[in-house]
Amino acid sequence: MNCEGDFMQLEQILHNSESYTAPDWLVAQANLADFDNEYARSIADPEGFWGEWAKRYTWFQPWTKVMEWEYPNHRWFVGGQTNITANALDRHANGPNRTKLALIWIGEDGSERKVTYYELRNLVSRFATGLKALGVQKSDTVVIYMPLTLEGVIAMLACARIGAIHSVVYAGMGVGALRDRIIDAGAKIVIAGNIGYRRGKVIDLRSIVEQAVDGLALRHLIWYQRGAKQALRPQEIDCEELLNAHKPETAPEPVDAEHPLYILYTSGSTGKPKGVVHVHGGYMVGTAYHLRHFYDVKDNDVYWATSDIGWVVGHSYIVYAPLIEGITSVFREGAPDFPDPGVIWQQVERYGVNVMFTAPTAVRMFMKFGADYPQKYDISSLRLIAVAGEPLNPEAMRWAHEHLVDSGRRGFVADNWWQTELGGPTIATPLTMPAKLGAAGVALPGVEAVIVNEKGETVPKGQGGLLALKRPFPHMMRTIWHDHARYEQYWNEIPNVYTAGDVASWDENGYISVLGRSDDVLNVAGHRIGTADVESALITHPAVAESAVIGVPDAIKGEAIKAFVVLRLGQETDDAVKQSIIEHVRRELGAIATPSAIQFVEKLPKTRSGKIVRRLLKAQELGKDPGDLSTLED
Ligand code: AMP
Repeated sequence: MNCEGDFMQLEQILHNSESYTAPDWLVAQANLADFDNEYARSIADPEGFWGEWAKRYTWFQPWTKVMEWEYPNHRWFVGGQTNITANALDRHANGPNRTKLALIWIGEDGSERKVTYYELRNLVSRFATGLKALGVQKSDTVVIYMPLTLEGVIAMLACARIGAIHSVVYAGMGVGALRDRIIDAGAKIVIAGNIGYRRGKVIDLRSIVEQAVDGLALRHLIWYQRGAKQALRPQEIDCEELLNAHKPETAPEPVDAEHPLYILYTSGSTGKPKGVVHVHGGYMVGTAYHLRHFYDVKDNDVYWATSDIGWVVGHSYIVYAPLIEGITSVFREGAPDFPDPGVIWQQVERYGVNVMFTAPTAVRMFMKFGADYPQKYDISSLRLIAVAGEPLNPEAMRWAHEHLVDSGRRGFVADNWWQTELGGPTIATPLTMPAKLGAAGVALPGVEAVIVNEKGETVPKGQGGLLALKRPFPHMMRTIWHDHARYEQYWNEIPNVYTAGDVASWDENGYISVLGRSDDVLNVAGHRIGTADVESALITHPAVAESAVIGVPDAIKGEAIKAFVVLRLGQETDDAVKQSIIEHVRRELGAIATPSAIQFVEKLPKTRSGKIVRRLLKAQELGKDPGDLSTLED
């Protein structure tokens, strides 16, 4: 292939014809039976489509227009008033779901707390009354730095209930990251936990918070205190006392559909993190739509997203969408392999989990520990496992299909691609369609996805380029907090489309394979190759557990491929293994994608949400500045 100038043409080099289908009984009961028809409706008449779904929710004032689209700004349910918690809480607490379990929280030590919709509504309402008593008002920003606990969720919902804007910062981020986010959000109120638990250890969050807020003019600091309580200083409030001192008398504040619900910081590949803003109305409608239609959740399901409230999956699919839809949602604090690698499956058996949402990094970890762990438990309740966050390597997909859903007899494993900015699944494999290995799936209802080159021209099917979206949908971000120009960049980098920063290819049937981040693309002898293909080929070698590849300067080829490899347990780290891995990739992908160097490493640099950070490896290799590292695990 010829690649001149900046012209972005990408080659998919890993070709996989393998695909899996869901069992007939599962397809027969799919919430979205006729995908093609639904999709066509959503594109032909987006206002009719989303307006119809939105009618199932409580609105204090009806909207006058479903969508206003003035490139690149979009508004949904214009003129409508609602409050997401009226739908996530009151709609159920005052109805037939009153005594139904809303949330089941599991501690790392196996302890458990359960709350019904009625109880949760009252807890949130009490907390909201307490916030109001402290002077917190509509549109105030509140930073939440809490371990994954019931109180963390209650704090989010209480802010939303009074129209305050929450900004959850993952309670694993350090002092600088927390401080920057408090300042950028302009938060005068911080709700924080004093400790967290991970791998049996107590994590001291208090000292991180104290350093982060040092010298900042906060109005209040609310502590959720576990273990021994400490004496509080002026302006400091104990969360439990706040809850106990107030009555559940705060009704949801009617807010404009476009009123900001939250800010969630996502780290750009370089530079300062961006505060992605989602709103009450459209976000509620869109995320809940996909919980039903893509995640296929039924009224009586037990549903578990193994994420954290610090990430967008936690916002959309631990907290908001399941509650909006009146589902019982499980969430768990702690590492997925502690106290032992079977703990996830033990919980699936314990609660009879039906639908699980997890990440490729978790699947690769399950695979590393082996099938004995899931086999020790009865996980036959699981019928759908949705995976998002990174490319789901074919090898990991194969393993999950075989060992977690009994080779497709018991259920389906579905990839889904999205971003913090997009709020919910965007490109994904509905269970009524075959899951093609290496492909994330097709554009979901409401989504018009294209693959373009750098001039914005659509590339032919079968080719690769930049993944782009041609129109907005209700649950897509509205702005970047205090930096609308940065929002506009998403829509202006390439004319007339939203670019996601990912490279991808598509096939004749509209299946899209996400090949990696565009910043990470390898350019070997004029061939532009995504990182996912090479990494996926690497992990099919029996010695390899995980890998990351980068391009390093090469006098002849422009760039050569260097692979960082984590070996499976008990493997030798000698040259023979290196050679055999190189040979293996050559066989799988051909000479062009063969790594010229392999380095064995103990682990790969990852974000705390489990994504491999290739730019750090590259910066280290080239002795350059790695940019923002606030979301890094180690
Ligand atoms: P975040 O906003 O932190 O959730 O990260 C979004 C990015 O994660 C996307 O732009 C992709 O690079 C990657 N990503 C998420 N889901 C997938 C998926 N199913 N397949 C491939 N990449 C994914």
